[in-house]
Amino acid sequence: MKSHTQVVVIGGGVVGASVLFHLARHGWTDVVLLERDELTSGSTWHAAGGMHTINGDPNVAKLQKYTIELYKEIEELSGQATGVHVTGGVLLAATEARMDWLRGLVAKGRYLGLDLDEISAKEAAELMPLLDPKQFVGAVRNSEDGHLDPSGVTHAYAKAARKLGAEVERFTKVEDIVQLPDGKWRVITNKGEIVAEHVVNAGGLWAREVGRMVGLELPVLAMEHMYLITEDMPEVKAWNDKTGTEIIHAVDFDGELYLRQERGGMLMGTYEKAGKPWSEHQTPWNFGHELLEPDIDRIAPSLEVGFRHFPAFQNTGIKQIINGPFTFAPDGNPLVGPVRGLPGFWCACGVMAGFSQGGGVGLALANWMIHGDPGADIWAMDVSRYGDWASMAYTNAKVRENYSRRFSIRFPNEELPAGRPLKTTPVYDLLSAKGAQWGVSYGLEVPLWYAPEGVKDEFSWRRSTDFEHVANEVRTVRERVGLSEISNFAKYRVLGQGAEAWLDRMLACKLPKPGRMTLAPMLKEDGKLIGDFSLANLDDGWFIAGSGIAEQYHMRWFEKHLPKDGSVVIEALGAKLTGLSVAGPNARNLLAKVTRADISAAAFKFMDITKIDIGMAPCLVGRVSYTGDLGYEIWVEPEYQRAVFNTLMAAGEEFGIGLFGSRALNALRLEKNYGSWAREYRPIYGSLEAGLDRFVAYSKDADFIGKAAAIEERRTGGRLRLRAFIMQAEYADVIGDEPIWFNGAVRGWVTSGGYAHGSRASVAMGYVPKEIADEAGGFEIELLGKRHAARLQPAPLFDANLERMRG
Ligand SMILES: Cc1cc2nc3c(=O)[nH]c(=O)nc-3n(C[C@H](O)[C@H](O)[C@H](O)COP(=O)(O)OP(=O)(O)OC[C@H]3O[C@@H](n4cnc5c(N)ncnc54)[C@H](O)[C@@H]3O)c2cc1C
Repeated sequence: MKSHTQVVVIGGGVVGASVLFHLARHGWTDVVLLERDELTSGSTWHAAGGMHTINGDPNVAKLQKYTIELYKEIEELSGQATGVHVTGGVLLAATEARMDWLRGLVAKGRYLGLDLDEISAKEAAELMPLLDPKQFVGAVRNSEDGHLDPSGVTHAYAKAARKLGAEVERFTKVEDIVQLPDGKWRVITNKGEIVAEHVVNAGGLWAREVGRMVGLELPVLAMEHMYLITEDMPEVKAWNDKTGTEIIHAVDFDGELYLRQERGGMLMGTYEKAGKPWSEHQTPWNFGHELLEPDIDRIAPSLEVGFRHFPAFQNTGIKQIINGPFTFAPDGNPLVGPVRGLPGFWCACGVMAGFSQGGGVGLALANWMIHGDPGADIWAMDVSRYGDWASMAYTNAKVRENYSRRFSIRFPNEELPAGRPLKTTPVYDLLSAKGAQWGVSYGLEVPLWYAPEGVKDEFSWRRSTDFEHVANEVRTVRERVGLSEISNFAKYRVLGQGAEAWLDRMLACKLPKPGRMTLAPMLKEDGKLIGDFSLANLDDGWFIAGSGIAEQYHMRWFEKHLPKDGSVVIEALGAKLTGLSVAGPNARNLLAKVTRADISAAAFKFMDITKIDIGMAPCLVGRVSYTGDLGYEIWVEPEYQRAVFNTLMAAGEEFGIGLFGSRALNALRLEKNYGSWAREYRPIYGSLEAGLDRFVAYSKDADFIGKAAAIEERRTGGRLRLRAFIMQAEYADVIGDEPIWFNGAVRGWVTSGGYAHGSRASVAMGYVPKEIADEAGGFEIELLGKRHAARLQPAPLFDANLERMRG
């Protein structure tokens, strides 16, 4: 083993091997993979080897498609057979709600380039002869499903990487990792040491233990997983003889089963409801090529459904039951990317579908390490989507829930209960007493809407029980005054003598004058967005508010760019600062009643920010509101939040104050054409494309990150445009990821939407190519399998001339 290298990849499962291959293929050949045993000695060897393109997140789906397409290439490069069989498959629905969900997948597939078609249950039975069509209401055909040889694929990656110059050291166990003063990593193994500039944790079943070597507690947990293999079945042989083809894959969502042919019989796996974690606290190092004891009772309820849905199984024997562990993150998506606070330490773990996702994970990580950017929108699998709150116990609760719901429908208005409530603010019980229905954002409970006694969300793809109540909350804001909690924003304080110059370089906007705020896009070198904030210039430093879910993501970026001399200090305030917001035509009257400060229109203008007392509590108040109305954001230390809340509610009575939640806020911002981070603003869109160019100070002196690219984007006009549409939809509204049609072809996609109650309009926001972005007609948006006429809404539906907001 060499003593120095550019990269050590820890783990020779399918994921580590893919990372190694992609690094070498993209030009980093001084790379070494360390595997404590033979390759595939974790989850990889006993996997069922199924692969598919579908994923709830379209960006992950794209990477899955890439993975599947890569197999031919690595087979050719390595000369190692991968055993890939692309059989195609059917995704089956036993209920109408499931069929709606499948239709959403077909629609998404249109702009992702996935080959999916809706078919009847009878047509599904013609493709997959073992299913009983009477058990299903419909299906989707997917031409890209298939299976492969897990060991063959892993070795093909490794061999192809070796041919490109990478090295693989087997039987080399990493026992500790220590960071050296120069930032490099000393990787200590049972066979000696190796110093590396970068370390990749692809430890799979041992990813937690590898993380702990550098003081990191990763939110991953292994679950036991079982599949069975039947004896040879005459039905299978008859089909093979008749058609000359294998039996295709099937996913039976309502039975929570997946199936494929295995030699002369069938393989059937299940994500049973009573899932069982494995090695909850510590994965034993002596676990190797072993299987776990099968527990047929646990999967019996699923098998019962399976035997009914696929009757041929009733007449066959079970040859073998495989039970093996594999890891999950709390939401079931991988944990990929650089770790905040540990430069040069990278994650490629929590990959629960290694044969669908391993290639995409390897590609994204290699791009990130080599070029400083994953080259794709991988937010859904970015390790930074979790913070310290994702503790071991939280992860345990969430992973169990996720496993048991692997094939369950998640409705757009459905909130999942496990691991909650975890983080709450001081007003939590006060809001609960008013009927708050809670959602969760970055571990924090967030009020979604306020329900009258006895009313709850009915989960649905269509407008639901909350509709009229959210409409009332919107009316309260637009006609009187509403109060909402905004503690779920990320809040940052920036201090130090270098702060101003640093912010001028980090943010593309002109910096605000003292006592003022501005909208502040943050760009990457390639001119694409990496953040959008509001930035305030206070007398004792700078204050930034941004997307709550991206706190860790943004801190990782901020800290990466901090000057080494300590002249700038940035702190994420998290729960140290809570927020309330008041908005509506009476918002100023309300505030005037509870403070002695002069907040008249002339003294406290739109985008002013100042410290004032509300009641007896010291607050930081900015005159801005995401509702697009006259409004104020009130930042207050948590010990005062209840007092401020009670003061505002009591004083607001005479103005007809009411509470509103994030669903009403969504409805309000939609009629202002306001976008938001992770929906309209993501790292694949330029500021011009996203309509944030008006906040970019192209000609400011500071050489802000992404300046050259932003200027170039302005010259060329970019590729896309964010647009708002009004849809002719009566019973349901878009949620995101629906295709936008133009003149009969899919040309764009929806980023978010909903019903804008104040304007009585179903609004969709989304991206279309710039060439068609201002066309007067021809747009349609697909929703629940139907194309709905849509028209552009260039000016905001509410307060287009900004009289209310600035008044
Ligand atoms: C029963 C079952 C069926 C499955 N079916 C499918 C399927 O059909 N399709 C699909 O896509 N996925 C399936 N999976 C999941 C799939 O197996 C995993 O997604 C995949 O194997 C994860 O690969 P990995 O490389 O991340 O981890 P692992 O395979 O666990 O590899 C990690 C490797 O790192 C090594 N390692 C760890 N720590 C160290 C250290 N300190 N020093 C050196 N080496 C170390 C380990 O020895 C191991 O070889 C299934 C899993 C199971 C259990």
